[in-house]
Amino acid sequence: MTCNGQQQAAKCSRRRFLALGAASALTAASSQALAVQTADDVKWNETADVVVLGYGNAGTNAAIAAHDAGASVVILEKMAEGGGNVAVSSGGFVVPTDKKAYYTYLKSLYELSHSQWEPELLEVFCDESMKLLEYVQALEPKAKVGVYGHAGYQSLPGADSVRKFSIRGVPGKKGGDRLFGVLARAVESRGIAVHLSTPARRLVMKNGEVIGVEALRGGKPFFVRAAKAVIIATGGFQCNPELMQTYIFGQPMSYLGSPGHTGDGLLMAQSAGAQLWHMNAVSAPLGIQVPGVKAGIALVTRQPAFIWVDQYGKRFCDEKGLDYHCSWMAVNHFDAIHHKYPAIPCFMVMDESYIKAGPIVSAGGSGYAINRENYVWSKDNSAEIKSGVIVKADTLAELAQKLNIPAKALESTVAQWNSDLKTHGVDTQFGRRISADPKQKSVFVGRDVKAWSAPLSEKGPYYAVRLVPVLYHTMGGPKRSVKGECLDTQGKPIAGLFAVGELGSLWGLTYQGACANSDAMIFGRIAGREAARLASRR
Ligand SMILES: Cc1cc2nc3c(=O)[nH]c(=O)nc-3n(C[C@H](O)[C@H](O)[C@H](O)COP(=O)(O)OP(=O)(O)OC[C@H]3O[C@@H](n4cnc5c(N)ncnc54)[C@H](O)[C@@H]3O)c2cc1C
Repeated sequence: MTCNGQQQAAKCSRRRFLALGAASALTAASSQALAVQTADDVKWNETADVVVLGYGNAGTNAAIAAHDAGASVVILEKMAEGGGNVAVSSGGFVVPTDKKAYYTYLKSLYELSHSQWEPELLEVFCDESMKLLEYVQALEPKAKVGVYGHAGYQSLPGADSVRKFSIRGVPGKKGGDRLFGVLARAVESRGIAVHLSTPARRLVMKNGEVIGVEALRGGKPFFVRAAKAVIIATGGFQCNPELMQTYIFGQPMSYLGSPGHTGDGLLMAQSAGAQLWHMNAVSAPLGIQVPGVKAGIALVTRQPAFIWVDQYGKRFCDEKGLDYHCSWMAVNHFDAIHHKYPAIPCFMVMDESYIKAGPIVSAGGSGYAINRENYVWSKDNSAEIKSGVIVKADTLAELAQKLNIPAKALESTVAQWNSDLKTHGVDTQFGRRISADPKQKSVFVGRDVKAWSAPLSEKGPYYAVRLVPVLYHTMGGPKRSVKGECLDTQGKPIAGLFAVGELGSLWGLTYQGACANSDAMIFGRIAGREAARLASRR
C-alpha cells in the first residue's frame, strides 16, 4: 500500500487499519504487538466509558468499581465462559492481622530474591489488604469466610501477620468458583454488559491515547470505543510457548490454570509503549502432564516413601522442605557440561505403599485439568499405570531403564536414602525432615499421617511419574502506578490505559501464596475507580 501527500494520510491510515483488522483475525496472539494508530473515522460497534478486557478476577473487580463510581462499563472476555484462573484457583486471599508487619514480611520476600518492587505499590497493597474481608462481605453479605493457611515463609519477620482466607459453605463449589461466584453475581446484579467469546486483539490509539479496542466477535472485527479508558485484565502469558521461551529460563514447563492466558494483554500493552517488569518471575510447584489433557496437575506429596531424582538418577533437594510456589527453582538449572536441564523433567520414585494409599494427586484440588477439563485421576492409580503416566517396574533397574536414566545411579540413590533413614534416622544428603512435626526425630513407622520421610521398600514393584514445573501464574507484565495506570518506558501513565491482575502483578521471584487473588482484587478495584474518574472524551 502506498500513500502520497498529507491529504492521503488519513485515508491511508484508515485503509491500513482495516487491512490489519482483517488480518488480525488470522494471526496468532504473539504476532499482534501492533496498536492501531487511527485517524477519525473508525466505525465503532459499541461505546462505554470504561472497557474492561477479561472477565476474571481483576476484570470483575475493575468493572464493579467503575460502575459503582458512575461509569458505563463493558467487559470483553475471550473464552466462552468467564472466570479465567480465579475460578479454578483455590480461591485464597490474604487478609493480614497487621499492616506494618505484613509490609515488612513482603518486603523481605523481594529482598531475598533481589526482585523488582515498588515501596509505594506495596504500601497501597498492604493498606487495601486489611480491608478485603469487609469488601467481600459488602459485595455479598451472606458470604462465609474462614482462615485456611498462613505465611509461606515462616522464618521471615512479620510472618505471623499472614492469614489466608477463602469463601466457605457453597456446596458443590470449590474455593475459586466460590470467589468468582461472588464477583460474577456482583457484575450481574449491576447489569454490567459482558461479551463472551470476544477476544480483544489490539488497542486503538489516537495521538498517543488509548481510545478503544479492536476485538473479534463471531470471527469479525468488533470495535469498542472507550470514552474514558481501557483496563487490561487479561492475565499472564503461561500458555504462550513463544513468550515463555522469551522470558522464562528452563523448559519445558506446563500450566495449571485457564488456557486463555496467552499474553494477549502483555502484547497489547507493549504495543502502546508499556514498561515491563519482573518478566522472569513465575509461581510454580512441580506437577504432572497427562497426555491429551491441556493443563497440568499439581503434585502435593502426602505419603512418606518417595524421593525425587533427576535424569542422572540422583536426588537434588529436600523434597518436603521446598517452598511450594518456588519449587520450579529447585529444578531450574542448565548443566553446562552435559548441555541439558537435568531436572526438567525429573521423576518422583515411589514404592507400593505410596500407590496403595490412594490417588497420588488430590482429586479435590484446584486447577483447570480437574475442574474444567474434568480429568478424574483413578482412585487406585490403575488408569494412570495403564496409560503409562505412572511407570511401573518390578525392580529399580527396570524402572531406570523405562525412565531412560542410569540404573546404577538410581539403585545407589535409593540405597543411600534407605540406609540414611534406617541406620541414622536422618537424610544425610539434604536434611529432609522425618515428620511434619519438627520434634519427631525417629524413623517413620506404621501409618503416621504426619510422616514426611520413609525408606522405600527393599522389594518391588516400584513406580515413577515424570514431573515438570506447572505454573500457577506468571508475574511479569506492564508496570503499573498506584492508580493501576499502565506506565510507559519513562514511568509516565499511558493516557487511557490501565493494566491490572496477574498481568504485571506486584510479585517477584519469591511469591507468598494467596497474594495473586488479593492483588487482582485490590488493583482491579483501584483501576476501575480511577478510570471512572477520568473526563469523558468526546
Ligand atoms: C490452579 C490455580 C490455583 C490458584 N490458587 C490461588 C489462590 O488460592 N490464591 C491466590 O491468590 N491466587 C491463586 N492463583 C492465582 C490467581 O487465581 C490468579 O493469579 C488471579 O486469578 C489472576 O487474576 P486475573 O484477573 O489477572 O486473571 P483471570 O482471573 O484469569 O482473568 C483473566 C481473564 O482474561 C481473559 N482473557 C485473556 N485474554 C483475553 C483477551 N485477549 N480478550 C479478552 N479476555 C481475555 C481470560 O480468559 C480470563 O478470563 C491460582 C491460580 C491457579 C491456576
